[in-house]
Amino acid sequence: MNVKILGTGTSIPSLKRLSSSYLVTTKGYRILIDVGPSVVRRLLEFDYSVNDIDLIIITHFHVDHTADLSTFLFACNYGIEPRRKPLLLIGGPGSKKFFKGLSAIYPWVLPNFYKLTLKVLARGIYNFHGISIETVRVNHNSESIAIKISHEKSVVFSGDTSYSRNLSRFFNDADLLITECSFPERKVKGHLNLAMLQRIVDEARPKRVILSHLYPDWDDFKGVLHEPFLLAEDGMEIEL
Ligand SMILES: [Zn+2]
Ligand SMILES: [Zn+2]
Repeated sequence: MNVKILGTGTSIPSLKRLSSSYLVTTKGYRILIDVGPSVVRRLLEFDYSVNDIDLIIITHFHVDHTADLSTFLFACNYGIEPRRKPLLLIGGPGSKKFFKGLSAIYPWVLPNFYKLTLKVLARGIYNFHGISIETVRVNHNSESIAIKISHEKSVVFSGDTSYSRNLSRFFNDADLLITECSFPERKVKGHLNLAMLQRIVDEARPKRVILSHLYPDWDDFKGVLHEPFLLAEDGMEIEL
C-alpha cells in the first residue's frame, strides 16, 4: 500500500500547503481522499490524471475538501481522453443531496461516457475489489466521517474532527494514522490540537501518526515532535 500526501493545508490559501488530500494506491486501485481546491492540478504535478482514480472518498462537504470535485468530474467528461472506466464516490450522510445540488448548478458534472456510482457510507464497511473501506461518523459537520482503508495493511484518515472516544476505537492499532491536527495549542471547536491528538494516540496506539490539515499556527511551532508523530508536508509518500 502506498500513500501519497497531495496536500496538508486548510481553508487558508497557502503556497506551501494545498488543501488536505491524499492518494492511496493498493491492489492496483487508486483511491483519492478529498478533492479540495487545486487537487486536480496537484494530481498532474505528481503524474496522475483524473482517469487514474477509481474511487473518491469525501470526508465532509467543507469547501477545502470538495471544491475540486466539480473540476474533477468536468475533466472526466471533457478531458483529452474522456473517461470510460467506472468511478465510485463515497461520502457520509447527505452525500446524495450534496451531489444533486452540485449537478443542479453544474449539469456538466454528470457522467457522459462512464458509470458514476454514489454510495453513502455513514458507518459501516464496504468491500471495494477486496479492499475494505470502513467509515465512522466524527464530530465536525453532520456528514463528517473518518475512513479506514485496509488491504494487508491499514491506513486511517480522521478527516476534520474533534476528540471522541469512538475515534480512538476506530483508529485502534492502525499501521498509519493520517490525522488532522489543525493547531499545536489553540482549541477550536471541531478540530484537534496536539494535546487532544496525544490522548487519541495513547488510546489507539497506531504505529505511525502523520499530522495534517495544518493551520499557519504551525509555522511558529517551536516544540519537538517525537515518534510516532511526524508533521506532514505536501508531496510526502509513505510505503506500507
Ligand atoms: Zn478542513
Ligand atoms: Zn471542515
